[in-house]
Amino acid sequence: MEPLILVDQVTKAYRSGTVEIQALRNISLSIDRGRMASITGRSGSGKSTLLNVLTGIDRPSRGIVRIAGTSPVSLTENELAVWRGRTIGIVFQFFQLLPTLTVAENVILPMDFCNTWPAAERKDRALALLERVGIAEQAQKFPSSLSGGQQQRAAIARALANDPPILVADEPTGNLDSRTARSIFSLFQQLAAGGKTIVVVTHETEFDAVFDQRIELEDGTVLRSTEPQENTSCALVS
Ligand code: ADP
Repeated sequence: MEPLILVDQVTKAYRSGTVEIQALRNISLSIDRGRMASITGRSGSGKSTLLNVLTGIDRPSRGIVRIAGTSPVSLTENELAVWRGRTIGIVFQFFQLLPTLTVAENVILPMDFCNTWPAAERKDRALALLERVGIAEQAQKFPSSLSGGQQQRAAIARALANDPPILVADEPTGNLDSRTARSIFSLFQQLAAGGKTIVVVTHETEFDAVFDQRIELEDGTVLRSTEPQENTSCALVS
C-alpha cells in the first residue's frame, strides 16, 4: 500500500536573476499513517521548502508528491485550499490565532471554511477538541489571555478541526519553555497513537527520542533518515 506521504525524486529550484538555487535536490521519502516524524537540519537546508511542497503551498520543479493518494499539483487553487483544510492541519511557531476571535471561534473557523460539519454541530465539536487538547476552560477567552502553551494547544485544536489525517508543525515549540514543549510533544504523541500522522520541523534535539522517524536534511538532500521501526519512540504519553 502507498504510504500516506510520498515524496519521490523531488527537486525544487528557485531562480534568482541568472542564478538557480536548488532548495530540494532529488529527495525521496515516505511517512506512514500514525507516524510521528521530525524534519531537522540547519537553516537553509530545505525544511520550509519541504513542508511547502507537502502542503501544496509550493510546487516541486520535478518529481512526485502524493498525500493520501492525491497529488497537490493536480488541484486548482480553490480545490487545493479545501483539500488542504481537510487533509493537513498546520501548526505554527507563533500560533497564529486570530486575536479578535475567542479560542472556540478560532477552532470553528476552519470548519466554516471547509463545510465538513453541519453548522449546528461546529461549536460542540470545537469544545470537544479543546477538551481533547486540555484547555476546555479557555474556550470563551481571547487568545491574548492564554499562556504560550495554551495558545499552542488552541492552535492544535484548530488544526484538528476538520479531522485531517495529517498534522504538520513548523517549530511548534520554538517559542515555549522546555516543560511546556515536552507537554506539547506528549500531546502530539497521543494524537499519533490515535492514528494521526504528525510531521514536525524542529531544531530541538532534546526531544529526538519522541519521534519514530527522523529525517535530517542538508543542502536540500536527505542526509539521514531513520527507518521507521516498531516501538522505537520513547513514551512521553501519560
Ligand atoms: P530552511 O527552512 O531549512 O531554513 P528553506 O527551505 O527556507 O530552508 O531554504 C532552502 C534554500 O532555498 C535556501 O538556500 C534558501 O535561501 C532558498 N530559498 C527558499 N525560498 C526561496 C525563494 N522563494 N527564492 C529563492 N530562494 C529561496
